[in-house]
Amino acid sequence: MKVIKEISAIQDISDYYRCIGKKLALVPTMGFLHAGHTSLMLRAKDENEIVVVSIFVNPAQFGAGEDFTKYPRDFLRDYHICEKSGVDYIFNPEGDEMYKKNNYTSVIVSNITEKLEGKFRPGHFTGVATVVTKLLNAVKPVNLYLGQKDAQQNAVLKKMIQDLNYDTKLIVCETMREDNGLAMSSRNTFLSPEDKARTSVLYFILNEGKRMILEEKINDANTIKKHIAKILKEHTPDFELQYYEVTDNTELDPIINLSEFEGEVLISLAAKAGGTRLIDNIVFQKYRNE
Ligand code: AMP
Repeated sequence: MKVIKEISAIQDISDYYRCIGKKLALVPTMGFLHAGHTSLMLRAKDENEIVVVSIFVNPAQFGAGEDFTKYPRDFLRDYHICEKSGVDYIFNPEGDEMYKKNNYTSVIVSNITEKLEGKFRPGHFTGVATVVTKLLNAVKPVNLYLGQKDAQQNAVLKKMIQDLNYDTKLIVCETMREDNGLAMSSRNTFLSPEDKARTSVLYFILNEGKRMILEEKINDANTIKKHIAKILKEHTPDFELQYYEVTDNTELDPIINLSEFEGEVLISLAAKAGGTRLIDNIVFQKYRNE
């Protein structure tokens, strides 16, 4: 496994593999790797000859007052995890390699970025779209592996890839969870053991929403939201629920009448537990109620 720091070097490596007909995949990460990341790497290795993992904590996707400087970093630990997962190259550019002096260009995806997370993290998805554009142009992968954990990010990048005519295929892998259902995340390291145990409520309320839709045939998302609020008030009144939305999984628009809806339903949430902001979601197929 090799560590590459320069954009021109990873471009040359990518060109070489394309030239000899070997499929190259990219798994973009911000490091401090966990089993969610390794599941992406293993799937990528299974489906491609060459796997590049990028490790870059992207300053452009953090807002003022967010945790850019505090974000956990441990390159040596990440190196060993990548090596064990069969990764071929780690692309680990410095900040001034990715964002050269007098960088005037950003990639703005409209509409879909203003919903859900966008209401709480203005500018976040411009940072994401810009860095992923840079990564796609640096690594030039055939396949791009992302986790279901970041559902809106996937929807935004899917649109961006279509709109900008990238010939990279996006593959979304399922969310890896702790034993109590908490979605794995580098930020979980900020949770106290007590709060971490109590986060089981988040996966529970996602599944509770799904159950109400599919089994109780509830038509109105507000009924579900009221029930969820009651559960949270009883079990974790100190957790701050920022949103809990029932939307379609493409445009991320609220589903007004669930009984009429047919397609993929996304239930997504953001909550703060002891100061740590967590996001999670589930997605499932629904057919029109007979
Ligand atoms: P991050 O390092 O948090 O930016 O995540 C890098 C990639 O790993 C993104 O595509 C995430 O969706 C994915 N990822 C993060 N957490 C998980 C998880 N628990 N299960 C599966 N994929 C994940």
